[in-house]
Amino acid sequence: MKVAEGIHALKIPFRISAGPEHSLERFVYCYLVCGDTVCLIDSGVAGSQKVIFDYLVSIGRKPEDISILVLTHSHPDHMGAARAIREATGCTVAAHLSEKSWIEDIDLQFRERPVSGLETLVAGSVKVDRVLKDGDVLKLGAGFDMEVFHTPGHSRGSLSLFLRKQKVLFCADAVLLPGQLPIYDDNEACTRSVNKLKYMGDIEVLLSSWDDPKRGPEVLRAMDESLTFLRGIQRAVFEVVNEYPAADLMAMCEQVVRIMGLPPAALNPLVARSLASSLEKKRVREP
Ligand SMILES: [Zn+2]
Repeated sequence: MKVAEGIHALKIPFRISAGPEHSLERFVYCYLVCGDTVCLIDSGVAGSQKVIFDYLVSIGRKPEDISILVLTHSHPDHMGAARAIREATGCTVAAHLSEKSWIEDIDLQFRERPVSGLETLVAGSVKVDRVLKDGDVLKLGAGFDMEVFHTPGHSRGSLSLFLRKQKVLFCADAVLLPGQLPIYDDNEACTRSVNKLKYMGDIEVLLSSWDDPKRGPEVLRAMDESLTFLRGIQRAVFEVVNEYPAADLMAMCEQVVRIMGLPPAALNPLVARSLASSLEKKRVREP
C-alpha cells in the first residue's frame, strides 16, 4: 500500500503458537522508503522476503535496490526475514547497539526472552553491519533524509525514524495500542519515549508496526491514548500488588488483565514480564 510518494506499507500476517492446540493471528507492518536507494524498515517474520520483493517489483523497483535494512528492534516479527533479505540483496543491516546481541544470536534472545515458536518466526541470526544512534541521519537520496531517534521502553534499543520533510514518523512498537497486549521492557521509559515523539516536530502520518497508518489529528490522539493506557497499567499493577502482596507474577498479570479489560491472550508470560518491570523500579525507589 502506498502511504505517500516513495513511502509504502506492507502488512504481513503471521501466527504465533499459544500452546499445542492454539495459535494467535497477528500481523506486523514493514515499510519501504524509496529514494535513490531503498530503505526497508523491519523485515517481518521468516519468509516475508517474498512479499517484500514481489511488492518492490510491482512498483518498478528491484530487491537489489534495498541498500539498507533498519531493524527497529530485535523482536522476532521485526527481524525474522533479515538474514534472507541480506543474503539476497547484500544490503547493510542496521540497528541500535542495545539490540545487536539478540539480532546476532537468536538462541541468546530465546534464552533471555522466550517466545513460543521463535524458531518458526525467525530464519536465523544476522550480523549488524551498522550501529545506529539517536541523532543519526540516513540520506536515501531524492529528498528522503531519515532521522534516527532512540525510543527505548518497548525494548532497550528501540528506534523510531522520522522523515521531517515528508512529516512521516515510523514508530515501530513504541506507541502501544490501548486495549491490546502491553509488551514492553520498561513502562516509564515507554512513556518518556512517546512524549519524545509527541514533541519532536510536525507529524502528518504515523506509521506503527502494529497498527494501520494514522493521519492528521489521529496521530496525537494515538499517542495520548497510548500514554493513558501506560498510566492505567502502571496504576493497575500497583493496585494489585498492594491488595495481594503474595500474588505470583501470573496471578498478578491475571488481575491486571481483568482490571484493564484486556483480551484473554494478554494473560501470558511476556505480558507478565512487562508488568513486572514496574515493580523492579518501585523496589529500587523504595529501599
Ligand atoms: Zn516488539
